[in-house]
Amino acid sequence: MHLRYSYRLYPTAGQRTLLARTFGCARVVYNDALAMRKEARRAGQPYPRSTDLQKLVITAAKKTAERAWLASVGVDPLIQSLRDLDTAYRNFFDSVSGKRAGRPVGLPRFKSRKDNRQSVRFTRNGFRIRGNGKLNLAKIGDVRVKWSRVPPADPSSVTIVLDPAGRYHASFVVDVEPEHLPVVPAEIGIDLGLTAYAVLSDGSVIDNPRFLRKAEKRLKAAQRELSRKAKGSRNQAKARRKVAKAHAKVADTRRDWLHKQTTRLIGENQAVYLEDLNVRGLARGPLAKSVYDAGWSTFRRLLEEKAARHGRTVGIMHRAFPSSQLCSACGHRDGPKPLQVREWACGGCGVLHDRDLNAARNILAAGQADRLNAPGGPVRPDVAIPRQARSVERGTHLGDLRTTDVRAAGAGGIPRP
Ligand SMILES: [Zn+2]
Repeated sequence: MHLRYSYRLYPTAGQRTLLARTFGCARVVYNDALAMRKEARRAGQPYPRSTDLQKLVITAAKKTAERAWLASVGVDPLIQSLRDLDTAYRNFFDSVSGKRAGRPVGLPRFKSRKDNRQSVRFTRNGFRIRGNGKLNLAKIGDVRVKWSRVPPADPSSVTIVLDPAGRYHASFVVDVEPEHLPVVPAEIGIDLGLTAYAVLSDGSVIDNPRFLRKAEKRLKAAQRELSRKAKGSRNQAKARRKVAKAHAKVADTRRDWLHKQTTRLIGENQAVYLEDLNVRGLARGPLAKSVYDAGWSTFRRLLEEKAARHGRTVGIMHRAFPSSQLCSACGHRDGPKPLQVREWACGGCGVLHDRDLNAARNILAAGQADRLNAPGGPVRPDVAIPRQARSVERGTHLGDLRTTDVRAAGAGGIPRP
């Protein structure tokens, strides 16, 4: 399986210029190839093959006056950019044919220099980690890296990302063997909430960390400030950068925290069950929604990645499952409860329920029932992942980077007993 390890990079001014040029060339090659495929489609011609496109948009293009500058950067990132285009097309075709689960994927789109994130990928031929700890990138040089944890052993590729806050990261992909943890008896249901981050079926609560709320407050303040600036002014550009920085801070803080939570949950439980998200998120304002949704989908993805790595199970309940309507004591269906109802008494047996704890218990029970019915479920408990919980392979084209560029799933590591 593949793991990602992400580190902050500190390129010099000269290296930043070279990186900017590499981003630009990779983007042009991508767009040229995309235009050719679109043109072929319009003309009713067969889908152009990658090898043919590569010759046209890289090898042949370098010899023309308009594209001669493509020769000034390494060829590896350009080829990788075309691979990303292939992945984007494959995702689109698989999505149309139903082979790919999840949200529908659209046709690949042209990249712009104004995109929020710029990125290029180098394979083994294009980079190496030097003995002095610097990262050598072909035609760019030795870049300083902050090794916030042990450098990955034998990475197969590295993606260099420039985020909207102006920071550079190197995201290494490493192929690792799964390390299954010893089987434990505990299983848990999780209700992702509004007041607390999550309520667990054993009665424990994961609170939203205070430092995260602080970072979010700063982000909101920066956004208010931005909205007051005159359009197109220098102050607006400055304020926008400030918002991007605050965004990055929130994202980093949240990611670190989510890694800690998910590592613990996977370490302590053989199976973790949660609900498919979304529906309840729609009830809140646009900012709150984006903040919470981002956290929730990352939470789920990290759980799935860590479960796959450590031989655990993650079960996702369908969003139509009425977790907050059922009585977890007697099974009576008590009807819909508006969000402000935090406690309710069961009309069947009279038990008083905490809304979230009751939901978590229902999710656990439904998840366990699902798993029992899954093919091979009870016989091979460590591999019976419900179908909807299997993680989908993701590409690394720009559209997907937002979700795939995370620190390695093993961050912090689950201590072996
Ligand atoms: Zn009841």
